[in-house]
Amino acid sequence: MFVPKVVFVAMAGIRVGNERIRQLGMTLPALTNRASVIERLPSLGLLTLAGMTPPDWTCSLIEAMPDDDDLAERVLSEHPSLVAISSLTASAIRAYELAGRMRSAHFPTVFGGLHATSCPDESSAYFDSVVIGDGEPVWPTVLADAQFGTLRRRYQSPSPFSLADPPTPRFDLASTLRPARFTLQTQRGCPWACDFCGASRLLGPHRTKPVSSIAKELGAIGAITKRLRIELADDNTFAGRGDSGSLLEVLGESGIRYFTESDWRIGERPRLLERLAASGCEQVLIGIESLVFRHPGMGAKEASLDRIMDAVNAVQGSGVVVNGCIIVGADGESFESLDRLEAFLLECPLGEIQLTLETPFPGTPLRSRLAKEGRLIKERGWPYYTLFDVTHQPTLLSVAELESGFERLISSVFCQSAEHRRKGIRRRIWREFRQRRMQRCK
Ligand code: SF4
Repeated sequence: MFVPKVVFVAMAGIRVGNERIRQLGMTLPALTNRASVIERLPSLGLLTLAGMTPPDWTCSLIEAMPDDDDLAERVLSEHPSLVAISSLTASAIRAYELAGRMRSAHFPTVFGGLHATSCPDESSAYFDSVVIGDGEPVWPTVLADAQFGTLRRRYQSPSPFSLADPPTPRFDLASTLRPARFTLQTQRGCPWACDFCGASRLLGPHRTKPVSSIAKELGAIGAITKRLRIELADDNTFAGRGDSGSLLEVLGESGIRYFTESDWRIGERPRLLERLAASGCEQVLIGIESLVFRHPGMGAKEASLDRIMDAVNAVQGSGVVVNGCIIVGADGESFESLDRLEAFLLECPLGEIQLTLETPFPGTPLRSRLAKEGRLIKERGWPYYTLFDVTHQPTLLSVAELESGFERLISSVFCQSAEHRRKGIRRRIWREFRQRRMQRCK
């Protein structure tokens, strides 16, 4: 009996166009460690679609790294009934090339995810079919149509997926790839709408998953690995969940250690901070954003740097390390502001930092504004949308000046001594939390 097969392909890995930044990324330990974790995070969107694929189909997952030269041959060798590809903007051209190879071999292709959603017209030129928005509501129809050879050019649900009764992702498909951490989503979207952020709007409003579903997913991960380190694939965990008590409880009961992303306002929620570290949260990424812009850009979470740093100190004082996320190259960036940022990062109390260049991703208000101002660099197409390449004309610096300033900044703030200082901060935060917990148990 013929069993149809869907091959899921996630365009994974970190790409950097700027050769000097790429070299730095390979030599500075703080950067290489984080990069190796990020590039091995399983593609949760595809695992979720696999989880709702009917049992009369078989599935496989390929995580395609940038240097994966025999990718097309590997996919073709599986004789797929459907090739479902997901890609971020930086890998979109590679996804288009792969789709071309599949279509010339008469294997149908479907494209989904953030890039497909923000550029459906462009994507349609390369794929048999494009899914716009959440994939879950339309996936059963896509599969049925693929089986009968009647794939439509586009699929788009009239309303966002509710998350009230979500499918459990097929984590087992990723287990053979030996990820450093599994990913799990507790909510989708973000209410704050910063103008550089596509994730907050493109897939619909902010929604939360019932804790019973989160518990089920944690159980599914626990059944295949005992290394329970998880990265929550949320845009902004705790964004709108009242006191978040039930979420913290279910995470804490599972015994996992987890990393997540939120905004600085959690530092002003003492009830949440009382339970955050005890729930297994080791580190939270928080957008400090930029020293040159406070507004516009930060959306509704705009605040003075002092207030944000007070919140950061409160989070770290509760036993959770803050990974301060900084965007470099916003309007007004200058050599002087880069020097100021360097001094700040070398002395600030943050236990971890992340630096990226401002990038006008499709579908964001930032891109619309820069396009109107004629500042997008045309010859730097999607492969440059890596977060480490300059893709638009800065206001006070030339492109080359911003590139060299960013390189100097990275070399300085990720050097061995700076990383050693942050490592000391991280160790102290976690040690003090353990001591407090032991004292309470006595
Ligand atoms: S707070 Fe974070 S997730 Fe929310 S809109 Fe801003 S950048 Fe996006």
